[in-house]
Amino acid sequence: MRIPGEWRIPYNYTIGDSATSFFEALRERRILGCRCASCERVAVPPKSFCEHCFLPVTELVEVGQHGVIEAVTVVTAPFAGSPPVPYAVAYVRLEGATSAIANYVQGVDLSDVTTLPAALKIGSDVQVVFGDEPAGRVTDFWFEPA
Ligand SMILES: [Zn+2]
Repeated sequence: MRIPGEWRIPYNYTIGDSATSFFEALRERRILGCRCASCERVAVPPKSFCEHCFLPVTELVEVGQHGVIEAVTVVTAPFAGSPPVPYAVAYVRLEGATSAIANYVQGVDLSDVTTLPAALKIGSDVQVVFGDEPAGRVTDFWFEPA
């Protein structure tokens, strides 16, 4: 026997200094990463610790707003809370970064899946586009083909 149920648990959590700086910069249409003093990797979004060296990282750097697609997927099946399908999400390594950040891809015709491998090719150039009123959310920007 199964009894359907649903939990709704609103909450707030502290995101830390690095993430706070990242989201505050988005309001100014800037994207920040952090540079590790030891290995010089630049992680986007910034972290408190280098994921390679496990050393604390405090240097924030602004990265470019062009990048290359490192991974991409097109979602065609909706799920609870999803945006309307189809939509594309890509991991993009921005200029000056050594890691990739995920976000939506717009400006690509997603209605014909046969054209998508060419339109969203791994290694293809994309640019960051900010919305009209950045609010300090990761959805303030998205990627479009460059
Ligand atoms: Zn490092």
